Parts: sequence; structure tokens; C-alpha cells
Amino acid sequence: MNTFLNSDIKFLKGVGSVRAEILNKELGIFTFADLLTYYPFRYVDRSKFYRISEIDQETSFIQIKGKIKHFEEIGPQRSTRLVAFFTDGEREIELLWFRSVKYIKSLLKIGEEIVVFGKPTFYKGTINITHPELDSVANRQKAAALEGVYHTTEMMKKRRVESKAIRMMLESISNDERLDVPEIFSEEICKKYKLIPRRKAFRFIHHPPSIKHVEAAQHRFKFEELFMLQLPFIRQKIKRGEAASGIKFESINPIFEEFLTEHIPFSLTGAQESVLSEIKSDFCSGKQMSRLLQGDVGSGKTIVAFLCVLMAVDNGYQASLMAPTEILAIQHYIGLKELADKIGLEIGLLTGSSTTKARRVLHEKLENGKIKLLIGTHALIEDVVKFKNLGLSIIDEQHRFGVAQRAKLQDKGKLNPHVLVMTATPIPRTLAMSVYGDLDYSLIDEMPAGRKAIKTAHRFGFAREKVWTFIKDEIARGRQAYVVYPLIEESEKLHYKDLNNGYDQLLEFFPRPEYQVEMLHGKMKPADKEAKMKDFAEGKTNILVSTTVIEVGINVPNASIMVIESSEKFGLSQLHQLRGRVGRGAEQSYCILLSSKKLSENAKTRLKAMVGTTSGFELSEIDMQLRGFGDIAGTRQSGLDQLKLASLTTDANIADTAREAIVALLQSDPDLENHQTLKHFLSSRQGHKAWEKIA
Ligand code: ADP
Ligand code: MG
Repeated sequence: MNTFLNSDIKFLKGVGSVRAEILNKELGIFTFADLLTYYPFRYVDRSKFYRISEIDQETSFIQIKGKIKHFEEIGPQRSTRLVAFFTDGEREIELLWFRSVKYIKSLLKIGEEIVVFGKPTFYKGTINITHPELDSVANRQKAAALEGVYHTTEMMKKRRVESKAIRMMLESISNDERLDVPEIFSEEICKKYKLIPRRKAFRFIHHPPSIKHVEAAQHRFKFEELFMLQLPFIRQKIKRGEAASGIKFESINPIFEEFLTEHIPFSLTGAQESVLSEIKSDFCSGKQMSRLLQGDVGSGKTIVAFLCVLMAVDNGYQASLMAPTEILAIQHYIGLKELADKIGLEIGLLTGSSTTKARRVLHEKLENGKIKLLIGTHALIEDVVKFKNLGLSIIDEQHRFGVAQRAKLQDKGKLNPHVLVMTATPIPRTLAMSVYGDLDYSLIDEMPAGRKAIKTAHRFGFAREKVWTFIKDEIARGRQAYVVYPLIEESEKLHYKDLNNGYDQLLEFFPRPEYQVEMLHGKMKPADKEAKMKDFAEGKTNILVSTTVIEVGINVPNASIMVIESSEKFGLSQLHQLRGRVGRGAEQSYCILLSSKKLSENAKTRLKAMVGTTSGFELSEIDMQLRGFGDIAGTRQSGLDQLKLASLTTDANIADTAREAIVALLQSDPDLENHQTLKHFLSSRQGHKAWEKIA
């Protein structure tokens, strides 16, 4: 169907195989349809002509009518430049070309009235425009007033496939009578959500008569994108709601109450309370819970999880808690065992490196129901692990796991256990609703009382000694510190050179026995890891030198300094997670970002952002601007890369209306039997095969 739009881009007039290859490689454009959905990133008003005298430092793209007086080639032969002296009758500017000099020269005609278009820059007192667009006055008079500007890469510019070339290609698609763009939404939806027809929208977005038309077209496509993105998740959620009956936790909660009144070491925040009551009502609903619990680092998700475990236990069920790293699993085990002991609850730990003997004992106690809570890594989803009656599966730091693993855990129980997934990834609400659209959503939006904002500073490596001196002072006041080295992938190939060197240097500055400096990394034996973690948690170790294994979840409230070596090598979300290891107690905490002096622009922005804010939400916004959605932890494969126009941060209201439209549509026509065009579109490449994902 629709062979025209699916045609290979090389068959488009003016493209051919060389340019097609450039479009494939540089922009991922393979078909006519791909090009049609390659939208301008801004528009210029070509109805206005400027005088040279009007140009100032602020002027962006402009066009001027005038004549070339003369031109010349300057510079050495290998790198000649072409300079043309251009006047509007009043004043003069220079037009400059560094590439395709020969070709351009053949186009220039002295004394003929032409139109130049480009961005003026000031250089040593003269104004010039580099690589301007040239046009005849007659051509300009025929052309549209508003013109789309398309992103092109450096490589494309070199090969003279620039914005103008893209615009011309699009014109030849738009003018082709074989172009057939069927409407995919029903009349009802178009009317209700004020969507202009699809075909018109393509015309207006590429060749707009006015800005109003651009806006109408953008609105239509934003809605469409957000519709395609969310539909699979929403359909899944509806299906789950119909199918999965769940375990009902209905008895009164003696253990829960005992713990809450007698043993909990603090009072819950309002946010924790309200999240708990949301979960409670899920537990009582008779349907399987599938809930995402989001809360920034340090907001107190673990205790919420533990209280949920107690509700399950009160009702005669077991629970599991899965963590993405062994170190985090161990820490949860140590921390929660202390709480569980107070109420006589037996809990177990299972990781990839648990011994066969330990496993045998665990398996038995799980099957006879003695162990009420099993904590572990993804070893938990190995097939041999059988529970007597699993009622609740909790996944911590969910963004580290794939969807498939989540599903597998769900299969563990004989019935459908309730599922609670927790994440600190500070993604905006709309984003969460889209990426985790098949889950219900709770948010802890409040930090425990008495926390002080972490002070963050960026220092270059040569200031390291000062930093160590500062740490000495803090240690003297009873505090502890982390020093983290980047070791992003803990593969066999990478050795621990930086970490080991750093550790040796620290030992010199913090000699034994006065100081205790210890090292922790992923390759150590679990028993050693446990011992190191325990020593640090109990305050026996002053400084823990570590790789990023401590990135997620680790909780030692007395640790108040986080030093991150080579911080320019980390992404923003990772830096935020690492910083989140401090600021967990009542003391003032510090995060010191060390870096080399040579920094990329991107790295500078990241470090500046870290110094500027401690808000995970703000940082994730910046992260999105820097990297795009595709890279945000946990959102890969979620389809966010299909958003070309829509932004989940600024188009939240369109995302909401699209969701409303989807729900209404699926209620009346769950399998889209009466919406074949839409269904077909959803199954196609253009529709991102959204329907196939859920079929
Ligand atoms: P995260 O949400 O990052 O997993 P944790 O659950 O590790 O955070 O909690 C961080 C710290 O805050 C822990 O030391 C925990 O005991 C403490 N905490 C949690 N809730 C409260 C509260 N309501 N009042 C005071 N401290 C709390
Ligand atoms: Mg945590």
C-alpha cells in the first residue's frame, strides 16, 4: 500500500544515489515518507528585505537586495577563499565562500540585481555573510514568504546538500500528483481535537502561507506523535486491567501496625503516607497492582517498600525485593534485617554469587514459607527459585532492568503477585506516564524533614590536595567521605588502574592507623563487599574509595562528602545519583566534582548544571536538552525517539488530550476493527509498528 511514499529516496527528482546515501547516513532518511516527516526546525520570513545599515550584532538571518561590484580569490592555492563585494546602493558588505569556490565563481555576475540571504557576522570592522544563498529577484518574487529551515550536518554542507536542497526535494514530493496522504484519524477525533487533515498538515509544515498555518500543522503532528507513542502502553494497561485478577490483602494489619507504632525510627513524610494509602487501596481492590513509585534520591522509598512487605506478610504472603547490583542488594539486606529482627521476621539474601549450600537452605525456606522477604539481584528470577506464596514483587531502581525482567518476576507467583517498581530517575510526570504507561503511578515529592541542601563545587584536578585537606577537617568532625572513580563498564578488559592509583595516593595522604581508607569495587567477593559496606556503614571506615558500584541506592547517612574524580566522564543522571549518596543525614553535605582542565562544551554544561541545582527534575530537563530522550535511563526502546516535534516537557497538555482520545477510542473499538486506516498506519514503519508491539 502507498508505494509512492515508500519509494526509495534515491528515486526522487534531484536526489540520485550519491545524495541518497548522504541522506541515509546523515539523517536516517530512506524513503519519501521519511523526508516528508523531516520537519523544519524554524522558519524565516523572506518577505522582508533589509538595508545593510540596519544590520547590528543581534541580527540573525536576513535577506538583502543589491549587486555584486567585484569579486576575487584570496589566500594560498590549497585554501583559497572567494570574496565578493556586495552593495545595496548605500553601503557595502563582503560575501565569503570557503568551499566550492570554483562553482560559486561560475555563478556570480557583476552588476546584476540579486538577492542574498544568510547570517551576517562582524569581523574586524567589516560585516560579512559566509556561504550566503543567492537568488534572482524574479525567483524570489515567485517564492513563498515563509521558508522552512532544515537541520543539516557539517558533512552535508560540505557536499552542498543544505537546507535549500532539502526544501527543493520536498517541493518535488509535494507537487507530485501521485502523493496520497490518507487521513488516519476519524472525523470525530479530528473535529474534537481540532486537527487539520494530514495532507494539508504536510503542506503547511513545509510550505506555510503563514505562521498560523505552521502552528496548526505542528499541533496536528504533535498530537499524532503523542498518540502513536502512548497507544501501545494504554492498550496494554487496559488489557491488564481486564485480565489480571489479583490477590486481595484484606485482613487488619497487626505486624504493620506494631512496626509503625513501636519500631519505625522516624515519622513518615506526608508524601510517603499518601503513596502508602494509594498502594493500600490497590492491595484491597482485588486486582493485581502494577505501580511505579517515583521519588528523587533520598526521598525514602525503601521504608515505603518495607511497609508494603509487612502488609503482604500480615496477609500470609511472601514478598521479594530485587535490586540491580549486588552491593545494593547487600545493603538492603543489612538495613532491612535490622528492622525485620525487631518484629521477628525472617528475611533472606540471594545473589549470583550465593553458594550452592546457601541456596539450598534458602530454597527450602522459601518453599515452606519461613522466609517472608527475599532480597536479591536478578538471581531472583532464576527458575529454581520457588516461593510458597509470593504476594508482592518489588523492584528497586527499576530503570536498570528491562521490561522483560519485570514480566518474568510477575510470573513467579501462582497467582498474580502485586508489583511495585521504584525508581529515582527524575523524569517529568508526562514522560513517566508515557514510558511506563502500562503502570499506575505514584510520586514521593517531598524530602524527609531536616535535610540540608548539598553544597556542590567543581574543581580542577590540581586542587586535589586542598580537597583532601578539607576532608581531613570533616573527618575530624566525625564525618565520612566517598571518593568515586569512573569505571563505567566493569568488564574484564578494564583494569582498575585509576582506582588503584587513587587509592594508593589517598593512603599516603591519610596514613594508617590514624585513618581508615578502604576500597570497594564490583569484582570483589560478595563477602568482602558486605564487610566493606558494613564497616563503612558503621563508621569504622573514614573514606570509601570506590567505582560507580555505589551509584544507586547506597545509604550511609553519616557520609557527608562525595568526591567524584574525572567527573566530566559521567552523564548528568549518574552524577545526580552519585551525589544522592550524601545529604542523607542532618549534617551539611558536600559534593566535589574534580575534572581535568580541558572540557568539552557539553561537559562544561553538565558540571555547571550540577553546581547550579540539586533538583533531579531540573537536571533531567537539562539532560534531555543535551542528549535527547533516547538516552535517558530506562527510556530506551520506549519509542521516545519517534517524537520529532512534540516535547513531553512543554506539550504535556497535548499528551494528556491524546491519552484521553486513545482511551475513548479503545473503549468503543478495542481492536480498531472500525479504524482500519489507523490500524494499518500503526502497523507500518511510519506508525513505528506500534500495533505490532502489542499484538
Ligand atoms: P531512596 O528514596 O533514595 O531509596 P532511602 O529509602 O534510601 O532513599 O532513604 C534515605 C534516607 O532517609 C534513609 O536513611 C532513610 O532511613 C531516611 N528516611 C526515609 N524516610 C524518612 C523520614 N520520613 N524521616 C526521616 N528520615 C527518613
Ligand atoms: Mg533507594
